[in-house]
Amino acid sequence: MENEDNSYKESLKKSLKKEIRENLKSEIINEIVSELKAEESLLKKELVELLSKKISSAELKKASTKHKQIEPKKTSEDVECLISVKAFLKISSHALKYANKEIPKEDWVEVIGLLAGKVSNHKLYIEDAYPMGHGSAVYAEIKEYKNFVKAFKDIKKSNLFICGWYHSHPSYGAFMSSEDLGTQARYQKLWDKSIALVIDPYEIDGNSYGFKIFRSNLNTEEWYSIPFEITEALDVSTLPELLDFIKPIIDGKALFLEYDED
Ligand SMILES: [Zn+2]
Repeated sequence: MENEDNSYKESLKKSLKKEIRENLKSEIINEIVSELKAEESLLKKELVELLSKKISSAELKKASTKHKQIEPKKTSEDVECLISVKAFLKISSHALKYANKEIPKEDWVEVIGLLAGKVSNHKLYIEDAYPMGHGSAVYAEIKEYKNFVKAFKDIKKSNLFICGWYHSHPSYGAFMSSEDLGTQARYQKLWDKSIALVIDPYEIDGNSYGFKIFRSNLNTEEWYSIPFEITEALDVSTLPELLDFIKPIIDGKALFLEYDED
């Protein structure tokens, strides 16, 4: 009898021990899992904070130092600058090629090019634009002198001359920065009426052409905005759709496919 009792006790002990061990095991596992989860979300939070801090300080730096806004002075002159649809479409599509929704925003860069025009009846006609390059988000400049010479010859061949330059400020506004002054000075030394066109393709929202034209007083280092018109009738409200439509061409793709093409 005593033996039976003992063996029953032993087996009970054994099964209880096993149950307790299992319970403890799962309790410990649960604790570890929830601790890991807490750590993970903390880590995530820290990472997100770190990243957003990095971005906001970078944006801040860009806004405060890179493109210090100089308030443009309005002139009382009448329209003295006319720009062709062709030039406008080339400039805006060039800007979008390196700053569009398929590229992460932190990889967007500025583009730069030459403006080709002619003077007639005391008015400057910007007939064409010559895309020259794209650069780091900090500064875009024409690096290749031999490309500049090539473009110069091409422009001369079409009976136009280099009347200025353009560059883009993807998503931070069409204004001239103090850094842009040095570039403008070089063009105004070539021709004193040279203009600077700056475009923010993200301001082409159906209400605006997204660009402005400036000239500088090199002595006072002030910018003057130049009034302009588009030479042909171009409805500003149709521009976002138009640019969207031509975007595949910029990427070297077909605009559309026939049913059996792929
Ligand atoms: Zn600029």
